[in-house]
Amino acid sequence: MTNLPRAVRERLRNQFALQALELVRKQGSRDTTQKFLWRLSDHSLIESVLIPANPALYGEASDRHTLCVSTQVGCAYGCKFCASGLEGWKRDLEVEEIVEQVLAVERGSCDEGRVSGETGTRLVSNLVIMGMGEPLANYDNLLKALQILNAPWGGGIGARKITISTSGLAPQIRRLADELLQFRLAISLHGAMDETREKIMPINRRYPLRELTAACEYYQQKKGRMIKFEYILIAGVNDGLEQIKPLANLARRLNAKVNLIPYNKVEGLPWERPSEEVQEEFLKALEKAGITATLRREKGHDIDAACGQLRLKTEREFAGMGPTFER
Ligand code: SF4
Repeated sequence: MTNLPRAVRERLRNQFALQALELVRKQGSRDTTQKFLWRLSDHSLIESVLIPANPALYGEASDRHTLCVSTQVGCAYGCKFCASGLEGWKRDLEVEEIVEQVLAVERGSCDEGRVSGETGTRLVSNLVIMGMGEPLANYDNLLKALQILNAPWGGGIGARKITISTSGLAPQIRRLADELLQFRLAISLHGAMDETREKIMPINRRYPLRELTAACEYYQQKKGRMIKFEYILIAGVNDGLEQIKPLANLARRLNAKVNLIPYNKVEGLPWERPSEEVQEEFLKALEKAGITATLRREKGHDIDAACGQLRLKTEREFAGMGPTFER
């Protein structure tokens, strides 16, 4: 803007940024799930994943696109199966760093001609807050970002199309229940007994299932909304049929739907994905117990789609532990 005095331009340049994210790497898989690796102003790396609606699941082709958004750099919660927690927590994302994950993906799609910038058509119709980090540990920034993404003057994405996923921060679940906006809530459960959950999720020691369940009940009473349980099936850890009864009891009590996700192997971690037979058997047993459940045919299995994997791989490459890459 050469019509502005040089001193003003300098001041603007020093104090403001037009874009908070720089694209470092983008991977697309065969089913067009796409993973974005962003560099922040302090050179930290975060990820977002764009997932198109699956005609096989929804019956017909749809324009629906869900964006999985990160809320922290790294994560302090140390779930044993997760790549994001492997190198600990670095910092919370700022409001603009959360909002811009949506804008930057849409900007890129405009450039590729997938959506029209002129007609104002939006690409991202749904958000799942389950990328890197524990969303409810960055509560204030997340809420501000979601208010912006929800507002008619902002992103215009309906609150009911926004799912916040937590590993089980009971006090923050109660706080979220008291907010005005009607977000959907998903619990990363991954075990229906304290004994199983504690093995893979240290958070369970702070908020055991009894406390987590009470907070979910409170959320449900206040919001009248169905809760979703995310349940990553890990071979030999939580895929045994002894899990079915406690899981079904919990789901019934909270009127929750269960989403089964076969584990995505993370390099350097010992966990394995169960066989398809075991996955199917687990699903059938849950359905037989009267629970609404789905088994995710994991999209993006071939693009390091599990939370934090692309970042980890790239950081190791930067550190000289692997091959360099081209964007
Ligand atoms: S699963 Fe979520 S809460 Fe657990 S370590 Fe990974 S990012 Fe953190």
